[in-house]
Amino acid sequence: MKRCLYCDAVRQDKVSWAAFFGLEKEVMLCERCQAKLEELAAPLCEQCGRSLKELDENFHDGSMCSDCMRWEQDAQWRGVLTKNRSLYQYNSYLKEIMAQFKYRGDYALGEVFCESLLAIYRRELRGTFLVPIPLSKERHYERGFNQAEVLAAMIGEPVGALERQLHEEKQSKKTREERLHRKENPFIVAKRFKEKVAGVDITIVDDIYTTGATVRYAAKALLDSGAKSVSSITIARG
Ligand SMILES: [Zn+2]
Ligand SMILES: [Zn+2]
Repeated sequence: MKRCLYCDAVRQDKVSWAAFFGLEKEVMLCERCQAKLEELAAPLCEQCGRSLKELDENFHDGSMCSDCMRWEQDAQWRGVLTKNRSLYQYNSYLKEIMAQFKYRGDYALGEVFCESLLAIYRRELRGTFLVPIPLSKERHYERGFNQAEVLAAMIGEPVGALERQLHEEKQSKKTREERLHRKENPFIVAKRFKEKVAGVDITIVDDIYTTGATVRYAAKALLDSGAKSVSSITIARG
């Protein structure tokens, strides 16, 4: 008897020959839970992967959403993120699932998304290096694990190339002017990974894409270290 990884209800697995031979992907949630996940319906914004289907015409041009257009109009950010692809709309149900995964350290829930993440990765981002968004040391200590790293490890071999900047230290070296006007990139590429990321295509892994600022800062750090291109993959599109 198999149980839903989220609500623990007994799953009614359909018995089929495909399933018997392992050809059909195993669904980890019960039907009721699965139905509450909202897939991102085509057409998608070619850059951030958000669904344009029900988005007001004033907020997209048919292929790109207005948020991404704004990023692209800014010379500092143009071309920094090749594309983001996410699995589901960040609705209240997904929020609950992800909170459970994040704070209770529930690895099993990551398995819920494993197959679908892998499918998107293979279809659109195959062969790219997987780089998880790092947590700060304190957060990592509190939680005991980094969910982005867990997800990346489910798709392939994560390369922990990014580190969080130590803020206080950096800030104190700056003039007042610099501190006020230049937003410091929170990410840097760890010294020992600089050669590894140079010249390669990279996919950043995170749990959620909201404003897109986090993945773009991370992408910028990687491009500054010579990465060829940077895309991202997340469970949720906020
Ligand atoms: Zn369920
Ligand atoms: Zn977009």
